[in-house]
Amino acid sequence: MKALQYREIGAAPEVVEIPTPEPGPGEVLLKVTAAGVCHSDIAVMSWPADQFPYPLPLTLGHEGAGTVAALGNGVIGLDVGESVAVYGPWGCGRCIKCAAGAENYCLRARELGINPPGLGAPGAIAEYLIVDDARHLVPLGDLDPVETVPLTDAGLTPYHAIKQSLPKLTPGSSAVVIGTGGLGHVAVQLLRALTSVRVIALDVSQDKLDLARKVGAHETIISDEGAADKVKELTGGVGAQAVFDFVGAAPTVKTAGACASVEADVTIVGIGGGTLPVGFGVLPFEVSVKSPYWGTRDELIEVFDLARAGAIDVHVERFSLDEAPEAYERLHAGTINGRAVILPNG
Ligand code: NAD
Ligand code: ZN
Ligand code: ZN
Repeated sequence: MKALQYREIGAAPEVVEIPTPEPGPGEVLLKVTAAGVCHSDIAVMSWPADQFPYPLPLTLGHEGAGTVAALGNGVIGLDVGESVAVYGPWGCGRCIKCAAGAENYCLRARELGINPPGLGAPGAIAEYLIVDDARHLVPLGDLDPVETVPLTDAGLTPYHAIKQSLPKLTPGSSAVVIGTGGLGHVAVQLLRALTSVRVIALDVSQDKLDLARKVGAHETIISDEGAADKVKELTGGVGAQAVFDFVGAAPTVKTAGACASVEADVTIVGIGGGTLPVGFGVLPFEVSVKSPYWGTRDELIEVFDLARAGAIDVHVERFSLDEAPEAYERLHAGTINGRAVILPNG
């Protein structure tokens, strides 16, 4: 089969021919219908050899959807041909976090060498994908796999972040979304669907801000040194009750802190390496700062239910598997508006 692999530190990913995998006991083989392209892969491919945690070559893609092609021994409850999406942050399934659906925070994954597809295990940008356990599959039903696959990360990750801040997002309050790319343009829609807050979007690109406005942002601001002052102005000097930073670089976490109101939540989702100092008087009183990872299994089901209710419209750009390297180049260059999705069998 064909797969997109990162093969050598610092090199661009390439489309290669590799053996089609067969499902072992308990595993499920998917024929991939759609695989999303996440900016985290760009970060992964920038890590130096001595810090690179996964074996190479690595088949990329941690947002995956497919049809069930074959079941390993002992797998029950799935039908061959069924359309499913993959819950990506695989855990052990048995620890207290996994038991609560929070496999993203599995207490034993590292020790057991369990990695998500595309982030250690072979990923979804391939004609076929092995899923380690049927519990990591969520039925899609009538949802379109191409438009839905980004929700497994670009939807689930902001959903998890926003859900925790819902008690603060009361009517009359404001939320700031920094970086309205793949994750951020879904975050804007989630905020609109789940709350009645004023949504203020920040990005460096006018195209991304135009998309943010189209999908529901009330205000858009170019992200620069003056952006936090503009947020303050728009909020009557108060600031935003929740700030979601989908860039996480030094200048954006600074902006995020400077946008916050008293008792605000500042959630750093982007992995751009920025740090935000916390201490008495450094930020407004009682601001909480956190940096979450992905989301829980039950939250993914909730995100799909929101999509079914028509509340989320992911802006997707389609690519064939042969065009996958170009999708990564374009993402790196900042010219993907919304999410790039690869159709390995399309
Ligand atoms: P993306 O490239 O689709 O979107 C990033 C957006 O940020 C783009 O619109 C870009 O124009 C904008 N941007 C860049 N610099 C900016 C700045 N200084 N100010 C404002 N906007 C700026 O990326 P994505 O796939 O949506 O991922 C977003 C980030 O979230 C990445 O860092 C990714 O690695 C990270 N991520 C984290 C998790 C997690 O679990 N914590 C999960 C998925 C992705
Ligand atoms: Zn991702
Ligand atoms: Zn676990």
